[in-house]
Order: sequence, then C-alpha cells, then structure tokens
Amino acid sequence: MSEETTINALYPVITDNNKHFYDSIENGELVANQCDDCHHTFLPPAKNCPNCLSENVDWTALSCEGSVYSYVEYHRPYHEAFKDKVPYVVAIVELKEGPRLISNILDYDLKTLRVGAPLEAVFTKGLSNFPIVQFRQKI
Ligand SMILES: [Zn+2]
Repeated sequence: MSEETTINALYPVITDNNKHFYDSIENGELVANQCDDCHHTFLPPAKNCPNCLSENVDWTALSCEGSVYSYVEYHRPYHEAFKDKVPYVVAIVELKEGPRLISNILDYDLKTLRVGAPLEAVFTKGLSNFPIVQFRQKI
C-alpha cells in the first residue's frame, strides 16, 4: 500500500449527505444539519434527525465558536504521517450550537487548556491538501 493510499484512508468518503459540510469547510464556514421539526442541530450529517427521526432536515450555519469537551496530548505518532507533528492535541470540541467534533487544537498552551476552555475554528489544509477545520484557544 502506497503512502498516499494510507493517507487517503484517513479521510472521509464524500457522499451526497456530507458533501455540503466539507464544501463549507473549504469555504471557511461550518455548517450542521438542523431538524425542521424538533430544531435539534447535529453532526455528522445525516438524512434523518437522530433526536426524532424526522426526514425534515436542512443545513444551518454555525458560529465557528465552541469549547473543549475533552482532550488528549499525543506524544507518540500512531500513524507515520504524523511522525513530525508530535506533540499535538486531539480534542472533542463542543460547538456553541451543540454538535461535537473531533479535531486538533493548534498553538495550545497546556497551562490554560482545560475542559470548557473557549475555542474558535481555524480552516486549514490537512494531509493531501484536504480542507479541514481545527481549533485555536480564544484569548
Ligand atoms: Zn428532530
């Protein structure tokens, strides 16, 4: 298996359901699905609302602000593609509107990084130039 094949395996398969989410990231915006019936806002994108199973689901823009729900600092690269990136932080980010994302926190300060710390989205490119959203501590 080539290195590019293993790197591409780290990225999601783009489908009709999630294409708008990834296109938005490429345009520097965050979106989520929102249920027209119960108003639940959720990720990952899906055809049905996970709260009430309604099919009346649409897209809504998010504020790009959130907070740390949980995090871990990695000191060992668990994939060869990340060997030059350690140490780095992987976090569960709770967005202001409710959905949670797993992402990285850039330029973090372990003295102030804690559960509940405010974050803002940063739109970057990952391996193979795939558009990704990461986060930075808000000061
Ligand atoms: Zn619903």
